[in-house]
Amino acid sequence: MSPSADANAIRVTFLGTSSGLPTRQRNVSGIAVQFPQRSEWWLFDCGEGTQHQLLRLDELRPSQLRRIFITHMHGDHIYGLPGLLASCGLGSTPERIDVYGPPGLEEYLKMVLRYSETRIPYPLRIHTVETGLILEEAEYSVFCAPLDHRVPAFGYRVVEQDRPGSFDVNKAQADGIPFGPLYGQLKAGQSITWQGRIFHGRDYVGDPIPGRKFSYCTDTIFCRNAVDLSRAADLVIHEATYAEADRDLACRAKHSTAAMAAQVAAEAKAQTLILTHFSPRYTPSAPITPEHLLAEAQAIFPNTHLAHDRLTYAIPRRMPAAPAPLAEDVGPSR
Ligand SMILES: [Zn+2]
Ligand SMILES: [Zn+2]
Repeated sequence: MSPSADANAIRVTFLGTSSGLPTRQRNVSGIAVQFPQRSEWWLFDCGEGTQHQLLRLDELRPSQLRRIFITHMHGDHIYGLPGLLASCGLGSTPERIDVYGPPGLEEYLKMVLRYSETRIPYPLRIHTVETGLILEEAEYSVFCAPLDHRVPAFGYRVVEQDRPGSFDVNKAQADGIPFGPLYGQLKAGQSITWQGRIFHGRDYVGDPIPGRKFSYCTDTIFCRNAVDLSRAADLVIHEATYAEADRDLACRAKHSTAAMAAQVAAEAKAQTLILTHFSPRYTPSAPITPEHLLAEAQAIFPNTHLAHDRLTYAIPRRMPAAPAPLAEDVGPSR
């Protein structure tokens, strides 16, 4: 699982993968998302120290941060937010930042900025989210739904819009259709008439390229909304605070075990699961290690990986399935 050089990949970078408090190896929650052919990037959660992690990643410039999505009001997800927003106001500033999150987020930010007499010199808009579609752009939509945690918490689902299939110029030329406006009509799926013959757009345009989807579900115990947010996702990012041996703790604190996260990915029929938000008790030298959590999840959902700080996972563009050969193409030769 290495960063891909694929220029069309959606890149997800983990800035913090510890739950509750930072450790020497892991900072608290934060995930950066970069999209193909766009300089702007988005942030999901902003635990304390997130801006220090960003300093170590040249490609994630604060001046290009455009949107921030906050899951809930626990400190390990928001204590870094006022500092990052203030730092964005120094030097070259972002064009604007939209912050999305639960009730209380706007008041929290306004109070911190007011009492610290921090002036934000760029447009900053704070949106209180509700279940459903919260953002729709030409290329991407974002949905959210409540999870099951000790305080109101929201999971997010990012969906890339499907793209039209590619137009087969060579075939059109070979069929004698002249370059020009007729190509546009065929591309749009219309039928045209040229020199007494009828040509159908569907014969020249490939299958649509399906958009990618990923979900971000933290903090939560296993819940149906996490499954719905993760439905058929290319990537599910799910918290796995505890091992199965500590299931009682998970239930009391309303966190997930690694097995619960795997159950979400399996029921959602997702492609890949990355676990994050690990309890600091599981170190490589502890009786239960992060590798144990991985094994517990993989027993249910084999394509599971462990996040670590500054891991980048590239979601490749999905290509449409190759069309099945026509019967006459595969029959015995006469
Ligand atoms: Zn947390
Ligand atoms: Zn929490």
